[in-house]
This record gives sequence, structure tokens and C-alpha cells, in this order.
Amino acid sequence: MPSRSLCVFTRDLRVRDNPALVAACDSPDVAALFVIDDRIVGDGSQIANRLQFLNESLVNLGASLHAIGLELMIRRGDWASSVAIVVRERGVEVVHVAHDGSLIAVRRVKALRAAGERDGFSIVAHPGITVVAPGTLATGHGTPYQVFTPFYRRWLAAEWRPPLRIPENRAAMQASQGARTPMNQPIPIAAVPAIELARGGETAGLAALREWAESRLVGYADGHDDLAADATSRISAYLHFGCLSPLEVATRLRDRPGGEAFARQLGWRDFFHQLLASRPEFATVDIRSAGTPTGGAGEEFERWCRGETGFPLVDAGMRQLLREGFMHNRVRMVVASFLTKDLDISWQLGARYFMEHLVDGDVANNQLNWQWVAGTGTDSNPHRIFNPTRQSQRFDPNGAYIHRYVPELRTIAAPTVHDPPDDVRHFVGYSEAMVNHAAAIAHYRIRRASDVNGRL
Ligand SMILES: Cc1cc2nc3c(=O)[nH]c(=O)nc-3n(C[C@H](O)[C@H](O)[C@H](O)COP(=O)(O)OP(=O)(O)OC[C@H]3O[C@@H](n4cnc5c(N)ncnc54)[C@H](O)[C@@H]3O)c2cc1C
Repeated sequence: MPSRSLCVFTRDLRVRDNPALVAACDSPDVAALFVIDDRIVGDGSQIANRLQFLNESLVNLGASLHAIGLELMIRRGDWASSVAIVVRERGVEVVHVAHDGSLIAVRRVKALRAAGERDGFSIVAHPGITVVAPGTLATGHGTPYQVFTPFYRRWLAAEWRPPLRIPENRAAMQASQGARTPMNQPIPIAAVPAIELARGGETAGLAALREWAESRLVGYADGHDDLAADATSRISAYLHFGCLSPLEVATRLRDRPGGEAFARQLGWRDFFHQLLASRPEFATVDIRSAGTPTGGAGEEFERWCRGETGFPLVDAGMRQLLREGFMHNRVRMVVASFLTKDLDISWQLGARYFMEHLVDGDVANNQLNWQWVAGTGTDSNPHRIFNPTRQSQRFDPNGAYIHRYVPELRTIAAPTVHDPPDDVRHFVGYSEAMVNHAAAIAHYRIRRASDVNGRL
């Protein structure tokens, strides 16, 4: 057993069910570290929502680690070099880290392994970011799954590891480490985060999950698309930063009433993570071609970003994103379809904008969902179109979701609110519809058919 270990937290910011932490705590001398990776954070102005959430998560993690006798060190810079410096300073023999298949994580762990070979320390990667580790499940041909349903069947049937307990309090053993430095805002943020952002951290995540599971899980299968009810769990950011263990969440909830439909969504998360881990280029390039979009980053794109398209449900979603750093899944699909099909603008532009604002912004989930909606991804029906008005009538029949986010329309009742006539729009100061949906989709279909056929 190594006498000195280092647990490097990345996007596993929790003490419950954390295999890397548990393994590190097998050593008599353990240090805990988080590195603010300059490559991800930059000056912080582009991703203020996620940084705010990360700050709160780190403060909470620091307190939880303190309660079990560990002090969380925070360093900033190049990730691998920063870890290697701490290894040297503390005479660490083994570094424990959560396995992460994203390109940036793979590269930095490779750089750390090179440093380990040079300096004589080892690195052990542990599961913890997904329910089933990427690469574990493969098709009959031994290749990663690119179709969800067969993946999901295997995923449900796979043997999941049991969730782990919080390590024992080691205060007595490590008393020599001295008093904890209180953290306030570990990462300075150069921009103002969204006003109604969820609070970060394992404690907040557990509280939110418990409250939601007690009251809403049972109705999840039928109610998750009811936009006015806002009935989904909203745990995506906690999962992204690892404040909650996806394995623990899935294990505890899957057999409860409503749990199967909920676990299926966690299956989607694992599906996209394993796909991106096997094909990192899918974060930027089409999985299957849909030809070259005719729209670009001009005024039409800006109107979509601001939520001024004149389609009430699209505008409500885009304004929810600005206000909360969050958007309901159904509305994400509607606004993404509107951008890529009605406006014929590339999914990459929309995905980048989402990544700037979403508190749960996650390359695997975001980019591969964008590809799914754009018809370049894993959807078995790539020609699917979301009609924004019909989606609004069906999933927000009373207009309550629209009223919540589009103040100009608060006095307009359903069904008029789904597509107000021009004089009503004018009277309340709401935008005209920026395109005719039927004509825009006809144009998109012709463009796509000729583009894609032209390439055959
Ligand atoms: C265009 C687009 C972009 C998206 N970008 C992101 C993103 O950056 N980060 C992100 O976490 N999710 C993303 N999603 C998936 C989904 O919209 C969110 O996970 C969900 O809305 C989060 O809300 P919730 O936690 O209340 O979900 P719930 O309905 O309560 O679901 C529970 C969990 O299952 C997972 N999940 C649910 N739906 C999906 C899905 N379609 N794909 C993958 N995982 C899913 C999430 O981790 C979620 O927290 C995107 C979807 C679309 C259509």
C-alpha cells in the first residue's frame, strides 16, 4: 500500500460514492487537490454560470472534506504540471483521479502519466463520471454503440458496482496538516452570472434530488414534458460537476415508481459519453452529413440568441436560458430544431451559444444532442421537424411557460398566445414571426436533399 496518495478532483466534486477518493483514503497520508485548468476556464467571462456553480461546488467540497479530516488544495494553471508540482511537494507515490473520456481529460492525464514515468509516481483512473464506464459496453462487433436502444438494453442489464460510502474521518491521522483555509470564491469570474442560477455543490444537489424524488419522481414518465409544471429533476448541473454520483442516483431511483423512465434519461447521458469518448471528433464534425447550412452568424442568429424570433415557445426557451442558465429539455429540442431547420444555421453555432450559457453545459450531452436534433447525429429519424407552434400548443396548452418568460405576452391567453395575430403582437410590443415555418422547412428540405444527394 502506498503511504502517500493524492486524490485529484475533476468533475467528481463529492465525497459520496467517489471511487478515486475512497482509493486514495486507503493510504495513511492523503492529500486532496483541485486544479483550475487555464485551458478550460480562460478569463471566465464566457462561462460565468458554470464558474459560479463550480465555485460553490468547490467551497462545499472543501467543507465536506474538512469534515473527514482532509484539506482541499486549489491550484491554478496547466493541469498536468500543477498536479506534478503538488506530487513533488508532498512526496506523493500514487495519484487517484476519476476516469474521463473527454478529449481534454484524456490529453491531460496522458501528460501526467508522462510526468509520472519521469518522476516515479503512478496514476490510477477510477470510475465515477458515468453509471457504466465508457468502453465497458460494446456491440457484437466489439465497436462502441451508435444507436441508443440496444445500448440502453445492455446498460440496464449490466452489473453496476455498488455505491461507495464516504471515507472514514481521518482527522486524528492527519492533524498535522493544520487549519483549513476558508475558501470564498476560488475562481474569479469576469462576467455576471444568470440571476436565477441553481446553487452548486453536493449538499444542494442532494437536497434538490431528495425533494424532487419525494414529490415528482412518481409522475415523471407522464409529466416530464409538461412545461408549465417544470417537473423534471434539474439535477443535470450536479451530474455534470459530479456533485451527485450518476451511479448512486440511478441505483437508488431506478426501481421506485417512475424510476424506470428517469433511469432511461441517465442512460442517454451514458450513451452520449461513451460515444464521444470513442469518437471525440463528434464534438465538432457531423456524425452523418446534412449538407452545408445556408444561414450563418448574422442578425437571424442574434434574434434567436436574444429570444426575439416571434415564435413564443422558442423565445420563452431562449429567455429561460438567459435568466436561469437552464432550459427544459423539450424546449431545447424545439429551439435547436428552429435554429438548424427553420433558420438553416449550423448546429455548431447553436451548440457554442448553449455552452456559453448552460450551467449544465457538457460537451458530450450538448454537442451530441445538438447533432441529434440537427439530423446529423444518432436520431434514427434525421428528418424530424419540431413545429414550434404545435409543440407550444401540446406541451404548454395554457401558455403558462410562455407567460413566465415572455412578459410581453403575459396578458395574451391561450390559445392566442401560441401564435398571436399581427395586430395583437403590435399592440403588446411582441416581435413578428421572423420566418414562415412551412416555407422555411420546405426550403430546408430542398437544400438538404440536393446537398446530400450531390455528395453521393
Ligand atoms: C440541444 C440540446 C442540448 C443539450 N445540452 C445539454 C447539456 O449541455 N448538458 C446536459 O446535461 N444535458 C443537455 N441536454 C439534455 C437535456 O436537455 C438535459 O440533460 C435536461 O434538460 C436537464 O434537465 P433535468 O436535469 O431536469 O433532466 P431530467 O429529465 O430530470 O433527466 C435526468 C438526467 O438525465 C440526463 N438527461 C436527460 N435528458 C437527456 C438527454 N437528452 N441527453 C443526455 N442526458 C439526458 C441529464 O443528466 C438529466 O439531469 C441537451 C438537450 C438538447 C436537446
